[in-house]
Amino acid sequence: MLVSASTYKRIVIKIGSALLVDRMSGLKRGWLKSLCADVHMLRKAGCEVLLVSSGAIALGRKQLDLPLKVLKLEESQASAATGQILLARAYSEALGEYNYQAGQILLTLGDTEERRRYINARETISTLLRLGAVPIINENDTVATSEIRYGDNDRLAARVATMVSADLLILLSDIDGFYSGIPGKDDAAKRFEHISEITPEIEAMAGDAGTELSKGGMVTKLEAGKIAMEAGTSMVITSGKELNAIKALFNGANATWFEPKETPVTARKKWIAGQMQLGGSIIIDAGAAHALTQGKSLLPAGVTKVTGSFSRGDVVGVVTQKGVELGCGLVSYGANEARQIAGCQSDEIESILGMTSRAALIHRDNLVLRAQANQLENNDA
Ligand code: GLU
Repeated sequence: MLVSASTYKRIVIKIGSALLVDRMSGLKRGWLKSLCADVHMLRKAGCEVLLVSSGAIALGRKQLDLPLKVLKLEESQASAATGQILLARAYSEALGEYNYQAGQILLTLGDTEERRRYINARETISTLLRLGAVPIINENDTVATSEIRYGDNDRLAARVATMVSADLLILLSDIDGFYSGIPGKDDAAKRFEHISEITPEIEAMAGDAGTELSKGGMVTKLEAGKIAMEAGTSMVITSGKELNAIKALFNGANATWFEPKETPVTARKKWIAGQMQLGGSIIIDAGAAHALTQGKSLLPAGVTKVTGSFSRGDVVGVVTQKGVELGCGLVSYGANEARQIAGCQSDEIESILGMTSRAALIHRDNLVLRAQANQLENNDA
């Protein structure tokens, strides 16, 4: 399929250990160089790029001379601790060739599953992107134990992609897509070009294509696909074995494209509209109500009162002074802060709260007006 890279605004690329690390010789510098050339190509096409890279354990175990057998948990953690330094340095140097700063983010399961930590991680990643850096993300394997870890970067990459509302997740694999059987073994095995829904039939076709250096077979890739598609993020599986695999992908190389029916913004709005429990309400004046119907964000200046108790990231109601419920949205400030900045100009926020933060109380992408909510429901019916 021929798709232009500039169709996408924000792309997450997941790189598996087997592509980046050779069991005998260690880091594949030539491959990394070609990946960075592809990142540069995407940036020139106007895309923001995030990399979710494995390789810490594979690099570290070699560095520590551990034998090629299944590692104990504490050996994996020690390998990750040693390897992650090498990995981050390699990315920093390779991206530096193109004058990009690399920003390392190490996440644990709790960072993507627990609301406050989720919001904090998202803000840091968004800030890195705004500053033009390339976030390099991996699981924090040094502290993750089996109960609290993802264990594979396919799902981690999908959670990161949905967290930052990426519109595309690229899984670079050692195989060029999702097959109906095992290629090479099963003569009838065919690669899917497009998948618009991950059905139980599709799931039943996922064999285990993992190698000893990577944890992710097709099972975790489909799980990643489900996470991504539910949030409106497209996903593509393609082979990363050849150099410049991303460039090849956008030139029509073999791949399987998982295409959701919605965009990240509509998927999020649908989720917001579906929240039954509102943490509180924000009462707004007529000028703000008019601005919202024009598709604008809700600024503190138009707020006359804040009721209830809620935290940053909660869904709150938006109500006019006459008590008409206009809609609801994900709020950027907690109730106490919202009360302090109610009625103020956005440039006063810093002096009032003692920190610079978002100008909008509810960003337009996080706001669902009743009319929109009704439309969403009708579309669903
Ligand atoms: N996070 C692990 C690492 O960096 C790899 C997990 C995976 O292979 O998916 O080594």
